[in-house]
Amino acid sequence: MDIVIILGAPGSGKGTQSAMIMQDYDLKPLVVGNILREAIANETEVGLFAKSYMDKGDLVPDEVIIGLIGEALISGEFSGGRGVLLDGFPRNTVQATAFDAMLHTKLSTSLSCIIALDTPEELLMERMVGRLYCTECGATYHTTYKKPKQGNTCDLDGSNLIQRDDDKLEVITKRLEVYKQQTMVLTSYYSSVPCYRNIPATGTPEEVYKSIRQALDSCLS
Ligand code: AMP
Repeated sequence: MDIVIILGAPGSGKGTQSAMIMQDYDLKPLVVGNILREAIANETEVGLFAKSYMDKGDLVPDEVIIGLIGEALISGEFSGGRGVLLDGFPRNTVQATAFDAMLHTKLSTSLSCIIALDTPEELLMERMVGRLYCTECGATYHTTYKKPKQGNTCDLDGSNLIQRDDDKLEVITKRLEVYKQQTMVLTSYYSSVPCYRNIPATGTPEEVYKSIRQALDSCLS
């Protein structure tokens, strides 16, 4: 099973790029933010617990996230295809270390490709402020860069588009701070791994995706 990680600050385009990757590669998405948002919508115990952290822009405690990832990967839900594309995990070195151990001991595999999207901070803010999100399928749009075709509805399923609570200005500022304090260090954590690829992510989504394809084609068998 191929395990691909896509790393990047909030607003770096992880969601947009993941959607393109999934169209071309037989990788199933494991998007931690979407799992948490679904748990919140279903008012599960995990969802109610996670919401208080997410609303403030903080990371949900590591043990909860590592548990969710372990359950998802071990459930067999991701077998059958080429592998899995992880978006939003790991987010700090505790999660990365636990994930290395999980891959080694429970799944007898290792990382196939680590894509790190490299985006200047001023662009991140601009992209997140205009972001819209489909309440049904989680697809993302942007009021300037990726407008929906019709009004405020999702191109894929016609559902309503909303601004996420954690895409409001004060929460965005906090999420970027958390990224700088805890997640950015993962680029050095992984930089010596042979399948690590740093991708400049300032161009159009298509330009960035071209570099991602080159990275994936050089790493996946
Ligand atoms: P995202 O959609 O990936 O930007 O995630 C939205 C929010 O979900 C984050 O701001 C965190 O509160 C929470 N979250 C997502 N992934 C993780 C993770 N790996 N560890 C802790 N919290 C997470």
